[in-house]
Amino acid sequence: MQHVQCLILGSGPAGYTAAIYAQRANVQSVICEGLQPGGQLTTTTTVENFPGFPDGVDANVLMDNMRQQAVNYGARICPQLAVETKLDQPPYEVKLDDGTTVLADTVIIATGAQAKYLGLADEEKYKGQGVSACATCDGFFYRKKIVAVVGGGDTACEEASYLASLAAKVYLVVRKPYLRASQIMQDRVKQNPKIEVLFETNAVGLYGDNGVQGAHLIYRKGEADERRYDLPIDGFFLAIGHKPNSEIFKPWVKTDANGYILTEAGTPKTGIPGVFAAGDVADPRYRQAVVAAASGAKAAIEVEKYLAEKQS
Ligand code: NDP
Repeated sequence: MQHVQCLILGSGPAGYTAAIYAQRANVQSVICEGLQPGGQLTTTTTVENFPGFPDGVDANVLMDNMRQQAVNYGARICPQLAVETKLDQPPYEVKLDDGTTVLADTVIIATGAQAKYLGLADEEKYKGQGVSACATCDGFFYRKKIVAVVGGGDTACEEASYLASLAAKVYLVVRKPYLRASQIMQDRVKQNPKIEVLFETNAVGLYGDNGVQGAHLIYRKGEADERRYDLPIDGFFLAIGHKPNSEIFKPWVKTDANGYILTEAGTPKTGIPGVFAAGDVADPRYRQAVVAAASGAKAAIEVEKYLAEKQS
């Protein structure tokens, strides 16, 4: 059975940065890359808000570079996905999808989160061509254009407000007759002349020859006054929530009601000695590559301290 000093689960900015820091601190680390090497960022195109790239950087290039940097410092990469964990006492046991088990003195959970999608075939068809689940990442491409945001929570209101600062017009497509967001966010949306809220409306498809040119909408679906219509838009943003990839850790670590791993304020400490959480799996609020990278660095620094204290 393989025994490692630091097992890093996840290969987004948090995972790779953790590996770079761990290796430079002489902590032998193994990264389990999981199903989506490079993480969520690889679903976008150009990253324009990661510091150090004045002209932006291709998301896949950025992640490949982070990976290479970790490898250059000696991190080992395994392509497997962690499917089960036993974190009651060290060495911690992590079972992988090839049936093997890794023993680890420390674990950094950096498994990320996934944006929820409606499940429409058109979302797949137009992904990267007008469909996005990250306004901060992709909003810039819609300057002076018309976009729709689906959702009625805080994220949707925040994304709509952000997009309104760039786009010519923002439709907020809300399935209920009210917003679920906090009052302050609702007020912000209602007071913004560029945002129009379409209550009791469901998006059921998208159309366009060269990327998204519009959405098929249904007002009061299933009611006597149901109305189907097409709304011309250039961009379609999903903001119906994220799902943190925390299922396999739930027997051991504390999570909030939405499944995000709870850590000690301002640190990546999970409460289990030597087990840390970094990146989006523990961050319902910021969900930015640079924030995830920074939290990966913090986790590796904590790993180093933990191992040093154990040895002394
Ligand atoms: P929420 O779960 O709060 O809201 C999701 C929204 O998406 C709801 O309006 C929901 O509708 C809608 N929705 C879900 N599924 C579908 C679907 N299939 N079709 C159409 N609409 C759908 O998620 P958020 O990401 O907005 O927020 C998550 C948490 O993070 C919350 O606790 C929020 O308060 C917090 N947050 C706080 C922020 C802040 O304080 N600045 C910023 C962002 C998030 P319905 O209401 O009908 O269920």
